[in-house]
Amino acid sequence: MRKIKKVLTEKEEIYEVYCNMCGNAIQKDQFGKFYEYLSIDKHWGYLSSLDGQKHSFDLCDTCYKDIISKFKIKILDDEY
Ligand SMILES: [Zn+2]
Repeated sequence: MRKIKKVLTEKEEIYEVYCNMCGNAIQKDQFGKFYEYLSIDKHWGYLSSLDGQKHSFDLCDTCYKDIISKFKIKILDDEY
């Protein structure tokens, strides 16, 4: 037998996102869902000159396109 009681819990949610490169806010659609953006969380390891550093940033799709346009080796654009 299980006895159940109601409890209030607290949760975290993202309510604003800003592009680290241009500073613009990532917009939301009419339902409150964020438009697509790139989110990077990187913890650099001991085989890096950045050993021990944790980097976290977000990019809007416009800035993402700007960055990848500078790649010498172009990324694959696999459509599914
Ligand atoms: Zn941007």
